[in-house]
Amino acid sequence: MKLPNYIDLAIIGAGVQALTLTTHLLQKSARHYHKFLVFDPSQTWLSQWQQQFAAQQIPYLRSPAVHHPDPNPHQLRTFAEHRHHELFPPYDRPGTKLFNDFCDEVIRRWKLADKVYPAKVIQIFPIKRASHSRFQLVLNTGETIMTRRVVLATGSGKVQFPEWVGKITSDYPLDKLCHSQQVNLNQLNLTGERILIVGGGLTSGHLAKGAINLGATVTLMTRKQLQSKIFDADPGWLGPKYLKDFHAETDWSTRYQHIQQARNGGSMTPEMMLQLSQAANEGKVRIDECCQVKDAQWQNNLWQVYCHDGNKHQFNRIWLATGTRFNVNKHPLLEDILNIYPTQIVNGLPVLDEHLRLPKSNFFIMGALAALQIGPVARNIGGGKMAVGRIVPAIVKPSLAIG
Ligand SMILES: Cc1cc2nc3c(=O)[nH]c(=O)nc-3n(C[C@H](O)[C@H](O)[C@H](O)COP(=O)(O)OP(=O)(O)OC[C@H]3O[C@@H](n4cnc5c(N)ncnc54)[C@H](O)[C@@H]3O)c2cc1C
Repeated sequence: MKLPNYIDLAIIGAGVQALTLTTHLLQKSARHYHKFLVFDPSQTWLSQWQQQFAAQQIPYLRSPAVHHPDPNPHQLRTFAEHRHHELFPPYDRPGTKLFNDFCDEVIRRWKLADKVYPAKVIQIFPIKRASHSRFQLVLNTGETIMTRRVVLATGSGKVQFPEWVGKITSDYPLDKLCHSQQVNLNQLNLTGERILIVGGGLTSGHLAKGAINLGATVTLMTRKQLQSKIFDADPGWLGPKYLKDFHAETDWSTRYQHIQQARNGGSMTPEMMLQLSQAANEGKVRIDECCQVKDAQWQNNLWQVYCHDGNKHQFNRIWLATGTRFNVNKHPLLEDILNIYPTQIVNGLPVLDEHLRLPKSNFFIMGALAALQIGPVARNIGGGKMAVGRIVPAIVKPSLAIG
């Protein structure tokens, strides 16, 4: 594909959120809106999503069948007409293969396959004039392109490591201490190994199950007690039940507190809790709740792990399912943008306008960084849909446009 000099809209990232945005944009513009491109170094839609699901051997999604990138909420169920066994109770949560096949069909039906330009955006220069403003994107291919609008949909945030990791003084093989995003269960043989998994979210559960299947015994260590929840945030956060009060709250710090309380760290689905307790009964996993690592050192080919409760354990590997952190100040693409379009930042989250723009700009942000407007589900597929409901009108309706 030849890169044009100028486009109306650049979408950065080709994940689930960006795919949701493009289908809704085309729907609302009767498929006439062609002046956009999506940038992603992977060249294809959903590569990060598919890689993570495959690497962690996740059998089905946590979200229900109505959450997907197509504008018609029933479309996935219709697609699954002859594949009902791939919808898992409760709430018909789609199997991973079903969801991926469905997304392929969405990409085909909306003719989006050639919309992903294979490049990473490495810098964005805001160009602000009295009459209009533009953004110049610099790509890792050395090319540049001008755009009127940008939607930042780069997803996952910065991996979060516990403090004790920074205090490890011994050298260790890098594959013996990994963040969950770096673990690929398909490339490992763990026969006879002891693995420490830190974190109490669903990812810990997937990794524990995978490691057990590969012949390891697992210790799952969590700061708090494991929480059992079907979804990561209550479905009341997808509609007026909780969002009415959330949006009425004018203090951004209080909104931030509500987001934190609603997610309350990680949680596991009830069926994952059941599988783990069965594995615990069989002696394949040990669950250490309310326990924290104090120090770990690599000695004699093993991790010597010292905990706050005074106990010492030995492991062959440590996996950190400790999540990611979202902070606009640390986002590699946002420094120049925030200098020109400053906004209040609350615990790393930007205050955006109601269409998810940085104030008085055509720079939109979706995903977890839009949580002060969207709420605790901002990072999820359902949150993506809510974000799109705010972004698309500002793009297709001239009366809502800036510049
Ligand atoms: C293991 C896992 C399971 C999950 N399961 C569910 C679920 O069942 N239901 C649910 O609702 N949510 C789920 N989530 C949460 C969320 O839906 C996913 O994280 C989802 O991938 C978020 O979509 P996204 O488009 O924001 O980001 P991503 O899917 O991470 O996509 C972002 C894209 O941006 C690209 N990118 C990044 N930087 C640049 C750059 N500088 N230039 C160009 N491209 C760039 C990346 O290559 C990537 O392809 C899950 C998350 C994880 C990690």
